[in-house]
Amino acid sequence: MNLVRFMNSRVPPNKRYQPTNYEHAANCATHALWIIPSLLGSSVLHFQSDDQWERLSAWVYGAGLSSLFIISTLFHTVSWKKSHLRSMEHCFHMCDRMVIYFFIAASYAPWLILRELGPWACHMRWLVWVMASFGTTYVFFFHERYKLMELICYTVMGVFPALVILSMPEQSGLCELLLGGACYSLGIIFFKSDGIVPFAHAIWHLFVAMGAAIHYYAIWKYLYAESPSQVQTSR
Ligand SMILES: [Zn+2]
Repeated sequence: MNLVRFMNSRVPPNKRYQPTNYEHAANCATHALWIIPSLLGSSVLHFQSDDQWERLSAWVYGAGLSSLFIISTLFHTVSWKKSHLRSMEHCFHMCDRMVIYFFIAASYAPWLILRELGPWACHMRWLVWVMASFGTTYVFFFHERYKLMELICYTVMGVFPALVILSMPEQSGLCELLLGGACYSLGIIFFKSDGIVPFAHAIWHLFVAMGAAIHYYAIWKYLYAESPSQVQTSR
C-alpha cells in the first residue's frame, strides 16, 4: 500500500502543513472520540468527592480535560471544512494552542490541591495558573511566530510543576505521572513530523489521549478512589 497518498509534502518551518482529507478526518476523530469519556470521567470524580476541595479539583481538572478534546475537535473540524474562513480558522487555531496551557495546569491541579506540599512547593498551587496565563498571552501575541519557543514553553509548563513531587510526603502515583509524561514527550516526535510520517498529527493526538488517560487513572485511583477523605490540615 502506498502510504504517501495519505500525506502531503512537508512545508518550510514558516508555513503550516496542509493535511490531506484522510489526515483531516483522522485529526478530528482521534480527539472527538475522547469528548464523551472525558465528560463522564469528570463526573465520576465529582461524584466520588468527599469534600469541597475534591469537588473543586474534579471541576477544574474535568474542565481542562474536556475542553482540550472539545476545542481540539472544533479546531480540526473548522480547519478541514471551513479553512476558507481564514480569520475564524486562525482564531480556533490559537484557542487550540491556548487550551494546552490550561490543560496542563488543570492536570496538576488535583495533585497540588489534594496532596500535602512543602512550604515552598505549595506556591505552585497558584504559580501553575500564572504560567498558564503567560503561555496564553504568549500565544495571543506570537502565535506560530517562533515555533521552537512555543515548544520550550510547553515543555517548561509540562515539567516544571512536577518538581513539587520532591516535597510531597505521599508519593503514590508517581509511576503513572511519569508514564503519562513520557507519552506526551514521545508524542512530540510526531507533532513535529507532519509531511514525514502519514497521519503524524493524528498519532500525536493518540499519544496525548494516552497520556491523559494514564493521568486520569492516577488521579482517580490515588486521589479519589483510595483517599479515605485524607483531609490535610495544611490546606
Ligand atoms: Zn491537533
